[in-house]
Parts: sequence; structure tokens; C-alpha cells
Amino acid sequence: MAEGRLFIVSAPSGTGKTTILKKLMTELPALAFSVSHTTRAPRENESDGLDYHFVNKAEFGKMRDQGEFLESAEVHGNLYGTRLGAVLEQLAAGADVILDIDVQGAAQVKKSEKIEPVTIFIIPPSMAELEKRLGGRGTDSSETIRLRLANAAAEMAGLETYDHVIVNDELGEALEMVKAVILAERSRARRTRNGAPIPAVSAI
Ligand code: ADP
Ligand code: 5GP
Repeated sequence: MAEGRLFIVSAPSGTGKTTILKKLMTELPALAFSVSHTTRAPRENESDGLDYHFVNKAEFGKMRDQGEFLESAEVHGNLYGTRLGAVLEQLAAGADVILDIDVQGAAQVKKSEKIEPVTIFIIPPSMAELEKRLGGRGTDSSETIRLRLANAAAEMAGLETYDHVIVNDELGEALEMVKAVILAERSRARRTRNGAPIPAVSAI
């Protein structure tokens, strides 16, 4: 079976990345979301194993020391990481895998040369709108919101290293743009690392 592709999606916190990705997962077949490990406390609407694998610092450190992570980083004061084994299994099964990770994590994946990712950066239409969305989400304290806003400019400075940059102004349009990137990537005649054609092509 052909290997899937790895897509990295990054955005400053509050941009709407989670909203876009949740819709995307219901609308495109053969897409798998990589569930990260984090030491952050779960939000009210989050479930363990679905949104994140919630672990304590000791558990996270052990996994990191054992080399289980494809990438890991401290983001807004919490630790986050992507388990390599899970991603490789999903790719081997032929799924295109979505990593919702930050700029530091994206840089690590690109450097690792284990998997060649397609990278997408989503930006808000303005910083004022970003602040409004972070407040409107109603899940974070004002201190957390301040920290995330303060980090947004530095994160945005990394956008030039991404393959695609999409503005999330009107939600439906941004979703269509993300879909377009994935569908265009799927249509490449030689899309796997070993050059094997996609199943749809080999069946013709
Ligand atoms: P992120 O995952 O990037 O931190 P979320 O998906 O949690 O962001 O979205 C932050 C808030 O912004 C949510 O309340 C969401 O409903 C809202 N939101 C997302 N996209 C848009 C949009 N295009 N226009 C207005 N509000 C949006
Ligand atoms: P949140 O706490 O809002 O869910 O996520 C905060 C930030 O952490 C977001 O930018 C998100 O993309 C990033 N993030 C989530 N999982 C991972 C991960 O596994 N690795 C890295 N490097 N960043 C992650």
C-alpha cells in the first residue's frame, strides 16, 4: 500500500486551527489526526486520547528520554510531543496524517529527515481579531491569553519557512484552502518517498 503524506499545520493560538482541522477531518477521507502528548491540563471540552494524551511531566520526560517523540517542544509553558511510532503506523496504513504542532516542532520534523512534511501556516486576519478570538473561546485565563498573544508575533516570524500560508478570515474559505492543499498533494503522480504511484493511478 502507498505511504500517506505528512501535513504539518501551525498557527498562533486562537487563530482557529482546531476549528478548521475538526471540520477538515469530517470532510476528507483517508485523513488521520495525530493526537499529541501534552503536560497541559485538559480544557473543559477536551477528552483524553481524542484531543490529546494528557500526561504528567515525569511521564513526558520518560517518553522523551526513550526517544519516542518525532518532535517535542515547550509551548506557552507546557510540554507537547508527537509520538513517532503512531505517525509511522498511520502513514504505513496509507492515511495522510495531520500534525497540529508549533513552529519549533515543525522545524524539528523538517530537520529529522525521517519524513518529508508538507507545511501549512494559518494566520489570523489581524492581531486585534486574534485577541478577540482568544477571549471569545472562553477557555483560557486572562494571564494565559496575554502569554499566547505575546508569543504570537514570534511564531508569525516563522511563517516564511512554511510551504503554504492561509489567512483564516472567513472560516469556510480558509477550510477550502487547506483542503485544496491536501487534494493537490494527493494528485501528484509521484507522491511517495520511494516513488511508488498512488493506488488510484496504479489501478488505471
Ligand atoms: P486555535 O486552535 O488556533 O487555538 P480555535 O480553533 O480554538 O483556535 O479557535 C479560537 C476561537 O476562534 C474559537 O472560539 C473559534 O470558534 C473562533 N474562530 C475560529 N475561526 C474563526 C473565524 N474564521 N472567524 C471567527 N471566529 C473564528
Ligand atoms: P493548545 O494548548 O492551544 O492546544 O496548543 C498550543 C500550541 O501547542 C499550538 O500551537 C499547537 O499547535 C501546539 N502543539 C500541540 N501539540 C503539539 C505537539 O505535539 N508538538 C508541538 N511542537 N506543538 C504542539
